[in-house]
Amino acid sequence: MAESDDRRLSTRCVHAGEIGDAHGSALTPIYPTTTFKYRSTAAILDVVEGRTSGSLYTRYGMNPTIRSVESKLASLEGAEAALVFSSGMAAETALFLALGREGVVCIGDAYGGTMELLSEQLPQLGIRTQFLLGDELDRLDACLEQGAGLVFLETPTNPALEVFPIGKIAERAHAHGALLAVDNTFASPVNQNPLALGADLVSHSATKYLGGHSDLTAGALMGSAEHIATVAGWRKNLGSTPAPETCAQLARSLHTLVVRVRHQNAAARAIAEAMQSHPRVTRVRYPGLPEDPGHALAREQMYGFGGMLTLELDADTEGTSAVVDRLRLFAIAPSLGGTESLVTQPVTTTHHGVSPEERERRGITGSMVRLSVGLEDPQDLIDDLCQALG
Ligand code: PLP
Repeated sequence: MAESDDRRLSTRCVHAGEIGDAHGSALTPIYPTTTFKYRSTAAILDVVEGRTSGSLYTRYGMNPTIRSVESKLASLEGAEAALVFSSGMAAETALFLALGREGVVCIGDAYGGTMELLSEQLPQLGIRTQFLLGDELDRLDACLEQGAGLVFLETPTNPALEVFPIGKIAERAHAHGALLAVDNTFASPVNQNPLALGADLVSHSATKYLGGHSDLTAGALMGSAEHIATVAGWRKNLGSTPAPETCAQLARSLHTLVVRVRHQNAAARAIAEAMQSHPRVTRVRYPGLPEDPGHALAREQMYGFGGMLTLELDADTEGTSAVVDRLRLFAIAPSLGGTESLVTQPVTTTHHGVSPEERERRGITGSMVRLSVGLEDPQDLIDDLCQALG
């Protein structure tokens, strides 16, 4: 665990991993240098051969700015170690190549890029990938018996906000000698810590809540020192280490993570409650609502319910697009987790490439609208939705 892991989350967001300098800098300095100088061959060999820890080459991640944010990220997920990547997809690619070569079982809906990697690209390398929907969990043991070293899932999922039992799935995976990795992007460490629930690895698109301002692209992976060391070797040669400048920007954003996400939790809940009684909204998917099928489980394994919610409207695909087009505060964009509220109609973005049959199997309809709630006043967001719904 990072040095300040006994402190509360907001404190760790600010202080964990920060390093000073000879000038008394209040924040970790940015070291843009690509390499580090040594006075002697013996001194550089001590670092290369692991006798002393030191900075060496930035792509290896051996740079104080990169290590500082990794230490903060490890602390936020209660992990022994963390790695930062140039994107969320870079984190997942390194994870699957390092620890998923015996096969991957993906549970539930996952981000489109993850699905493409798992269903089309990893099989080209001879890696077996299997997919289970939420109502097919009874087949997990059979999938694991066919050969799999890694189970991967998102919870809550995109866009249906389905909640999966992390502890129970970890037990099944471990019983077959497999690892469980959870993509915690939607929840963020403020609302859920998968490692504490039994998962072995946690991945993040840090482009979302961790970065939080829609102005940086990064990824993160947290887990045991042993697993992280294995993945680090792949990151090094895939070359997916982010720039120190991006790491400093990410560290700066993490200082406000708790404040941002708690506001977004409360605002999303207020919007979900308001939309429940709107005559044009047929269903609100938000795990924080007592009526939501995932609510009881979410209460058990989450500290808060997140800033994402999905509405189903009494309109066809075109009618739903018309509502989306009338929104003024919510911007039409396919990302999430920033300070500005965003809206997306999954069939036009995240699930555009998914066949109609597969969409139906996954319960993705043209009348679904996914909202990422930002830091605006929730009442203004509710007013905006009401005027767009007409
Ligand atoms: N995981 C989830 C849940 C995502 O939503 C995304 C991107 O939208 C990713 C992973 C991939 O992240 P990135 O775009 O940072 O590569």
